[in-house]
Order: sequence, then structure tokens, then C-alpha cells
Amino acid sequence: MVSHTKLKALYLCFNEKFGNHITVSGIKRILTQHGFGKGNLKVSSLKQALDALNLEANAAIDYEAFCQIFAKEDLTFYEKLCKGALVVPRFKVFTQDIEAIYHQLKTVTKGAVASYIPELKHVEKDAFSISVCTVDGQSFQIGDNKRFCMQSMIKPVLYALALEEKGLKHVHKHVGREPSGHGFNELTLNAEGLPHNPMINAGAIMSCSMIQAKKTPAARFKCIVDALERLSASDKITFNNAVYNSEKDTADRNYALGYFMREHQAFPKGTDLQRTLNLYFQACSIELNVEILANIAASFAGGGRNPITNTQVFLPETVKNCLSLMYSCGMYDYSGEWAFSIGLPAKSGVSGGIYIVIPGVLGMAIYSPRLDKLGNSYRGIEVCKALVEAYSVHNFDSILRCAGKLDLSV
Ligand code: GLN
Repeated sequence: MVSHTKLKALYLCFNEKFGNHITVSGIKRILTQHGFGKGNLKVSSLKQALDALNLEANAAIDYEAFCQIFAKEDLTFYEKLCKGALVVPRFKVFTQDIEAIYHQLKTVTKGAVASYIPELKHVEKDAFSISVCTVDGQSFQIGDNKRFCMQSMIKPVLYALALEEKGLKHVHKHVGREPSGHGFNELTLNAEGLPHNPMINAGAIMSCSMIQAKKTPAARFKCIVDALERLSASDKITFNNAVYNSEKDTADRNYALGYFMREHQAFPKGTDLQRTLNLYFQACSIELNVEILANIAASFAGGGRNPITNTQVFLPETVKNCLSLMYSCGMYDYSGEWAFSIGLPAKSGVSGGIYIVIPGVLGMAIYSPRLDKLGNSYRGIEVCKALVEAYSVHNFDSILRCAGKLDLSV
């Protein structure tokens, strides 16, 4: 049901903004300024409606045409846009800062690509891209936007799926929530004989054992891809079969972890270990790019609501639990230092991707496959350090307001 009062108010708002001369080019200009440029799906229906008018770019849009364009749109969202009240109001300035960080780091070649999964060493070593998506759907992307496998970055999603299906209590009968203090694939369990947390290999294998355990392997894999599609509003999520086979053929450590957990009776009753491991390897070989990953991170930032489609993909409670563990355990053996100096939930993968979540504000994804000694993307970490140095986004920065850092919300 269209609210004519709201439409009228929006019309007045746009009129005021454009000095009583609303035009197609004017609307497109403010869309671009606020992060709704080419390819942004959030505003695609509005852009179509604008083009369907067949008006000259600078011809005035009257009230009747205005209603035609906006009638089916989310008026509250466009009112925020018009008033400059989106979650990152000075989006252009923010993305210029990200652009500067990108250029500063572009020539850095420190670190080495992962090679323990043989296929991973065939990537373009110096690929580099950054993408941002806010909880209002404002987006920005810079770099080559190459595709890469999710690897460990799938772990929060596996945990979220297990939580939604089985509930917190059941899930944590099988996996802990303490940082392990060891590498991501260390052959170790906690004092109860369970994986330390869902963000390391053993814990993610455990999450897999709880995802649609009674269904076919195909249905279980599809359930993971579906979740990613709903979190990202993308239909461009693919699967890298070469990486999958390469990992499966060389996965002695993950097999060892699986058998070690089975020996300790850590799995839910009836778990098929081989199928569980296959699902884990498949999930790690799902491929996307930073743009898609930033959308996923933005859905996490929005408490499980996809900013583009407005659908609630995961419960806010699930996301809260996920973010808590990403905060304390998301960056392998660097997690403590990360929580201290960056202060944001994040997850990295050995393919060289990282995504970070600024709750209530935005998600950011970086891809740069050269890794540091702990297995995190070297430039990925540098991007985050630069971000936190400039902007007041560390979890506890609120305590030092006005200490010379920029505020994303003004
Ligand atoms: N598939 C990888 C493995 O199990 C994931 C590890 C990672 O990204 N840290 O070893």
C-alpha cells in the first residue's frame, strides 16, 4: 500500500535538495555520491524506473512522474538518502580514504601465498582488492576484484547455520568457545575433548557435522550456498573444483582432526565422518570476490539482515554469537593481538581474504593472497590497521571520542 503522505514528503525533500528542479541526472548524482553507483543492486529498480521515463537527463520531474518512480520503493530508505542520514553520511570522503590506503599498500609485496593446499599457490600473488558495504547498502569497491576461495572465512557461516538449526545449547555440547592459543589446524582439543571454538578447523568440521546431517550431501552443500546467496544477494557464488580436489587429496591433518574428535566421542551421535569432512572441504572451496564478501559482512553488521534485499537471513542472536567468536578467535593465532589493536570481529582465510564487521555500520572485505607467518593476509591486516588509525571504529574507541580520529557517523 503506497503512503501518499510519505510520497509527498519525499517529493518535498527532493525538491528542497534540488532547488525545485528534480532531474534524472540529479537523482543519479546523489545515488552515486552516497555509494549507489553502477552495479549496486539496492537501487536497481529505482534506476530502471528512472530510465523508463525516457526523460532528458536535465528535464524536470513533476509530482506525477516522481510518484511513478518511487511508488514501489522503500520510502523510508530514500528519505534517509535525501536527508543525508544514511549510516555513513559522508560515504564519498570515507571511500576516498580507503582508496588512499589501497594505493599506499598496492606496491607492498611482503608475505607468501599458501602452498600446503597445492592448488592455492597458483593464484595471482599480487592481486589486491577492497570492498565495503554498509548496513544501508552503500557500496564501494577498488582493485581487480579477483575471485578467491572462502577457506576459513566460511567458518562463521557454518557456525551460524549450526546454531540456527540446533540451538546454542546443543551446538556447544560439541564445540567450545575459547581461543585455542594454537594454530588453526593444530591437533588439539580442549579439556572436555571438544574443539576449542568454531573458528578453527576442528570446530568448523564440528559445525559441518551439525548442518542438515540427515540430508543428502548435495542438499547439505546447497544449504550452505543458499545461505551465502541470501547473505550477499548475489547469484555469482561459485565452486572451485580444483581447490576442492587438491585439499581433499592432501588433507591428512583434517582427517587426523576428524578421527581424533571421533576417538573422543565429540561428534553428535550418528555423524558420518567422511561426509562431514567432504562437506567441510567443499565449503572451503566456495568461491566469490570481495564485493560479494563485503555484502555478507554487511549482513552480519546488520544483525543478520541483508541490506540490499532487507531479508532477515540469520537471527540477530545467532549473529551476535558469531561476532563474539569472530572477535575473540577469528584471526588464528593473531586473535588476541587483533582484538587488542583492531578491536573488531573479523575472519580470515588462507586464500588471502579477510572480512571485518563494524556492527551496526558496515562490512569490509579485502583480498590479497600473500600471507604473514600466522596465515593472515599481509596487506589485509595493513588495511585494517590503517582504517583503525584513521577512524574511530575499534570496539572501545567510544571511550576516547574526539582523540583525533574521524567518526564514520557524521
Ligand atoms: N581449508 C583450509 C584447511 O582446512 C582452511 C584453513 C584456513 O583458511 N585457515 O586447512
